[in-house]
Amino acid sequence: MSGTILDGKRISLEIQEELRPRIAALAARHRPPALAVVRVGDNPASEIYVRNKIKACHDLGIRSIEITPPGDISTTELIETLQPLTADTSVDGILIQMPLPAQIDSALVTAHVVDPVRDVDGFGVHSLGRLVLNEPAPRACTPAGILELLKRYRIPIAGRHAVIVGRSNIVGKPMALLLLHENATVTICHSKTPDLAEECRRADILIAAIGKPAALTARHIKPGAVVVDVGMNRIADRETVHALFAHDPARLAAFEKNRSALLGDVEPRAMQELSSAYTPVPGGVGPLTIAMLMANTVQIAEARLGC
Ligand code: NAP
Repeated sequence: MSGTILDGKRISLEIQEELRPRIAALAARHRPPALAVVRVGDNPASEIYVRNKIKACHDLGIRSIEITPPGDISTTELIETLQPLTADTSVDGILIQMPLPAQIDSALVTAHVVDPVRDVDGFGVHSLGRLVLNEPAPRACTPAGILELLKRYRIPIAGRHAVIVGRSNIVGKPMALLLLHENATVTICHSKTPDLAEECRRADILIAAIGKPAALTARHIKPGAVVVDVGMNRIADRETVHALFAHDPARLAAFEKNRSALLGDVEPRAMQELSSAYTPVPGGVGPLTIAMLMANTVQIAEARLGC
């Protein structure tokens, strides 16, 4: 069996194209939607993520504001620095790029700076509470993007067994709730789950959000399952890359050129050969996260401006 590729890049572009007329309507009647991104310090991964978010805003005609306080700022200073942003009613969505430097109390900053209405990431207590209740609120972008992908590929969810590996507040838990609200039977696994392979093999829909390269292998996949790989792990170890991509000359050539490879949490060959459909890494879940961030920004702007 060779699984169908669930093309996150294509779906991401589709979602963004659908936003264009809504953005144009907002701009014509009021003003373009606006997203503020706060990036503290100089974490290189955060720099790349934020750059991509700002670029997506630019491409769609969403106004973006980037605020970059220094990495040694204290929690109190950061809250004070961001007060003008909180007071700026022309901003629709406020995103604080995580992780924040260790000395900062992330929850306190989020609670002070990001009011529930403008919680574009859906990470706040209010948004998560409303997700539990299945009430409208901005949804965390990565799980929301995965749900959108499954729906647009018409993958049945109701009545199926979804197994999610990972229980983070930004991926695993909101994913579980979204699938539960779609009437899946949901199992959440984590690092203390005793027989992970056995749990995973019960999945009709397997979602890996672990953060460990190729942690799930053929032992974890029921033949015919749909596999969504959220993991984004950059690896530079030649031996590992050659072992994992022995079947894929194009990936090996790309590795030789770039000296690193982006790898998911699922062994690529096992996923391709055993699943009925799967998200590749890269090009699967990653692009959807940005599309849903744009969608959340537009939706909040419409609600705030009464459109
Ligand atoms: P996280 O906060 O580090 O959580 C990882 C989860 O995996 C934890 O719940 C942990 O269990 C569990 N885990 C770790 N090792 C395990 C093992 N051996 N067996 C079973 N469970 C294990 O990570 P995250 O923020 O959810 O991100 C997960 C991955 O997705 C990362 O690679 C990240 O880069 C990627 N990601 C991608 C996107 C995207 O847009 N594509 C967005 C967000 C995240 P415990 O709770 O027991 O520690």
